[in-house]
Amino acid sequence: MEPDALREIYRKAKQQGYGFFANNIADTNTLIGLLKGYSEKKSDLIIQISPGAAAFAGDGDKLVGLRILSYTVRELARNYPIRVFINLDHFTVAEMELIKVAIEEELVASIMIDASAESFEENVRISRTVKEMAEPMGILIEAELGKIKGVEDEISSDEAFLTDPDEAVEFVQRSRADLLAISVGTEHGVSKGKDITLRTDIAKAIDQSLIASGLDIPLVLHGTSGLLPEQITEMISYGICKLNKDTHYQYVYGQAAHDFYLSHTSSIVPPNTIMKQTIAADHIFKTSDWSPCKDYFDPRVVSKVVRERIKETAMELIEQVGSAGKSLFDSTGGTR
Ligand SMILES: [Zn+2]
Repeated sequence: MEPDALREIYRKAKQQGYGFFANNIADTNTLIGLLKGYSEKKSDLIIQISPGAAAFAGDGDKLVGLRILSYTVRELARNYPIRVFINLDHFTVAEMELIKVAIEEELVASIMIDASAESFEENVRISRTVKEMAEPMGILIEAELGKIKGVEDEISSDEAFLTDPDEAVEFVQRSRADLLAISVGTEHGVSKGKDITLRTDIAKAIDQSLIASGLDIPLVLHGTSGLLPEQITEMISYGICKLNKDTHYQYVYGQAAHDFYLSHTSSIVPPNTIMKQTIAADHIFKTSDWSPCKDYFDPRVVSKVVRERIKETAMELIEQVGSAGKSLFDSTGGTR
């Protein structure tokens, strides 16, 4: 991971008025689909790992999962002509040990420390602590001020607390966060852009206040899956450089698998009469007259369909934030 390159990527994006979706993964299918889509669009790629995704990948062991996902991203990314970065998404004080290892082993380029549920003072203190831990490695820190409504992974909030622009300045000054996640009306999980009151005025005020204080840092928007393209464009114009994307790809994944299995049911599921005798795979394979078709039940087949659908979705979404064609990859060896 090259945190300096990530810093440069955000700096350029903010300067030139485009952004990046930061995409959550928990397995290789989503990752490979993203790598393919982003490469084709010549956009650099930000991958996110949440504590829940780390637990999933590590069969309950978050550290094992974090290492697996980090190495997987790094190894697969070697074959694609773009820069790829990993961010830890919504890590809290409960994951301090994991954060420490992620820094020591340089598993990531940036870390979101989410202490937004704590008081302002505690949020400053915790965010600053992580910043100081990460600084020797140059790893970037994203902190959050305000609360984003909804449920994502292991984080949930019933109510939204919008970010105060003046507090944002003090918060960034004291925490020394490199990126600031703001709460301006978006929601985690499934939400509909048409029903959301997006406080673009607050985003604008936060950005302007920070710039006026000499803190021209990239802002982050969570809960963007339901936002309309025009809402995204507007937010980018107010200093949002990183837009988190998780739920959207989860849905695409589920829909792709659903469509695939539904259109090949008869090749996988036995007819009702046999089904009634027994559903034991052993029986179906050895004694039944009916046979399933490996061309369809092999998990690699549905996985390829999922990867392709993720790739197509990524290619569409990249156009919304304007990162296409902006990759800073240098074929002479400038990336990893
Ligand atoms: Zn989030």
